[in-house]
Amino acid sequence: MIINGENLCIHTITTKPWGIDKCLAAYSRVGVGGISIWRQSVENRSKREIYRRANESGLRIASYVRGGFFPSISVQDRQKAIDENLRIIDEAYELGAPLVVLVCGAVPGQSLSSSRDQIADGIAACLDHAQEAGVRLGIEPLHPMYSDDRSAVNTLEQATDIAIQLDHPMIGVTIDVYHTWWDMHLEKEIKRCGAHDKIFSFHICDWRTPTMDLLNDRGLMGEGCIPITQISQWISEAGFHGFHEVEIFSNRFWSMDQGQFLNRIVEAWNQLQSKE
Ligand code: ZN
Repeated sequence: MIINGENLCIHTITTKPWGIDKCLAAYSRVGVGGISIWRQSVENRSKREIYRRANESGLRIASYVRGGFFPSISVQDRQKAIDENLRIIDEAYELGAPLVVLVCGAVPGQSLSSSRDQIADGIAACLDHAQEAGVRLGIEPLHPMYSDDRSAVNTLEQATDIAIQLDHPMIGVTIDVYHTWWDMHLEKEIKRCGAHDKIFSFHICDWRTPTMDLLNDRGLMGEGCIPITQISQWISEAGFHGFHEVEIFSNRFWSMDQGQFLNRIVEAWNQLQSKE
């Protein structure tokens, strides 16, 4: 029996070996309320059909993952990135996804501040289109270990600053405990982000010790050292009451039976609920 399953959302990447149809069927069967759909899991599929199927299975689509990767040395490549993000927004619209998560990008060798300027410019070029589509954009700050080539936005403070600076209702922030838990200013920044109504979504998982792979060794909630209950409380106090989205990249979990893994996610979620 799942506790408060309507607040629980799972990212399709979490059960990567499963196709989208299996994810929809299995998540709804255990009583999960939402699904965040990764682009590769619906490649070459009709987005409208997936939208209908999600509705039929009783799952709400929380977000479409992911856009971003705006910075580049050349103007042409930056324009290509903008065009790609406009397409991603169109796909999110067809899917009925209210949000696109942005992993903003970085260029090794280019200063992080230049990359952040290019990120702000790239997002700005997408905002009117996002508004027409009714799709919001969430800047996800990534842990600094990814600042070389995945994102020059590495703290919640930087993400919130860009969102405030762009001054547009469609831009906000996605807060992921994996990327932000270490930040001594996290509580204060969650409060500030919430005060500006910029908390658009919330991702959970855990940080394992030792971490064997910088990308694909995330832990299941409760397996690591992230104070998830504490951070969830700050998020809630800041006015965000949306989904808690389980997003786990893990070679370890991907290699096991995904049905058993899903059961473990539900158990870990229930454990968290009993503490909150
Ligand atoms: Zn995330």
